[in-house]
Amino acid sequence: MFPRSKSKWKPKPGGYIFMYVLRYDLFWQSHPFTIADFDDEHLIVYAAVKQGITAVLKNAIEAQSEKECTTPVLLEGQYGSRLRLGSYATVVYIAGGLGITALSQTILSNTEQKQSKLIWVITDKYPLEWFSEQLRKIKDLGTLTQIDIYYTRTHGESVKVPNSSPANSSTKTLYGTCASSQCNKEVSAITALNFHYYKPELRLLVSNEMIKEDAGTIAFVTCGPGSMSDGVRVAVSDQLLNSVARVDYFEENYSW
Ligand SMILES: Cc1cc2nc3c(=O)[nH]c(=O)nc-3n(C[C@H](O)[C@H](O)[C@H](O)COP(=O)(O)OP(=O)(O)OC[C@H]3O[C@@H](n4cnc5c(N)ncnc54)[C@H](O)[C@@H]3O)c2cc1C
Repeated sequence: MFPRSKSKWKPKPGGYIFMYVLRYDLFWQSHPFTIADFDDEHLIVYAAVKQGITAVLKNAIEAQSEKECTTPVLLEGQYGSRLRLGSYATVVYIAGGLGITALSQTILSNTEQKQSKLIWVITDKYPLEWFSEQLRKIKDLGTLTQIDIYYTRTHGESVKVPNSSPANSSTKTLYGTCASSQCNKEVSAITALNFHYYKPELRLLVSNEMIKEDAGTIAFVTCGPGSMSDGVRVAVSDQLLNSVARVDYFEENYSW
């Protein structure tokens, strides 16, 4: 989380910054991170822990008893361009894991489509813990016609979907058991998510969208592991000749 001066700098959807950490052992490096969310006073990014700067920062946080630490940084940017998707009849967002952070501001800033769907594939419960606030904003926006979360590893975890839907919702409510009570509260407050307990057949999902007779114009927008984006890209290109729709494919990725 970075402090932000509201009047001077407005994050844009799809924007990312290069971060320099002003420590003697890191200051010469800069790394790109996507602005996943912001409020009047803060910018929020989420980082997957790898072996370099992200591991150093994780260790610095874990060394503190309250599991928080403050460190001076320089931010360069912002970079990136905004995807304008208003002219598509259907937009299908497909995120894998942390890739949701690159799509969330794009979803929040594109609200004109007749149909827009989000497919989010996560391996375990943890992303629901750190992304619940942003997920609620997306859901509350009310412009997504469908939100499907595919939870690919249920091993050893307690997550249940009640048999009957709540009276005021036509879809399932997710009750998750997360590590913290805060998470429990937040996840169970998010309703109208379709929750699935298997790995999705993305090729089939893409193909089903593209062969609809009234498909019109479709945009597929992905961000996730390379293999996931590769699969979606191949699925789109395989169906191009069978589809009456005008189809565009957009891909964000976190490799550099
Ligand atoms: C546009 C964009 C947005 C991104 N947004 C996010 C985000 O929101 N969240 C997130 O978790 N990740 C994001 N990433 C990826 C993120 O920048 C990397 O995960 C991060 O830089 C990893 O840092 P690390 O040193 O811990 O990684 P490691 O890959 O473990 O690095 C190990 C070592 O290799 C060096 N190294 C790594 N990459 C390079 C390189 N390209 N050139 C030279 N040396 C290198 C490092 O300095 C380090 O010494 C984004 C990437 C891009 C391109």
